[in-house]
Amino acid sequence: MVRRKRVNPVGRLGVRYGKRVRDRISAAEAGLRRKHTCQNCGFNAVTRVSVGIWTCRKCDFTFTGAAYSPSSELGEVAQRNIRRST
Ligand SMILES: [Zn+2]
Repeated sequence: MVRRKRVNPVGRLGVRYGKRVRDRISAAEAGLRRKHTCQNCGFNAVTRVSVGIWTCRKCDFTFTGAAYSPSSELGEVAQRNIRRST
């Protein structure tokens, strides 16, 4: 078997699925691997529990967010509208 160098994490997919799809997978997985800043305590300790569910390992603050990142542009627009209407 020919050994292949892994250039990036989506290298495991090889040449399949098309570049645009692989780029999107790459972006999504990068969001999962990284720790995010907690909106409650400010520590960089937020990890994903499940799809859209995020929790801070420092203060146990659990909140909902986007599927692959704690917040999305669409989510922020929704938050703004909720704040305005209440
Ligand atoms: Zn926290």
